[in-house]
Amino acid sequence: MRITIQAVVDRQDGLPPETLELGAVQREQDCDPSSGLGLFIRETHDMLERLQSILLKEQTALFLKSAVRCQGCGERLATKTTRSLVYRTDLALEKRIPC
Ligand SMILES: [Zn+2]
Repeated sequence: MRITIQAVVDRQDGLPPETLELGAVQREQDCDPSSGLGLFIRETHDMLERLQSILLKEQTALFLKSAVRCQGCGERLATKTTRSLVYRTDLALEKRIPC
């Protein structure tokens, strides 16, 4: 048996939603139940980390898209610096956002 876990990202920008794989669970038919039932901790961490990465990427892209233009007139704002900002999440993932 193989179960694939996917995330569907709908950016609501007129393009079709993108389907991304979070992970897959593979179990053999003759697997002894005493070897573990359900998801293993490692599998959940891997899928959660992948989901967090996808979510951070989408949130960063949305933020950058809105932050490059003036909220009042829509004119492109000047770039003040090119250094990166580091944000840490609960899963200890780092996301670097260029300024
Ligand atoms: Zn303006």
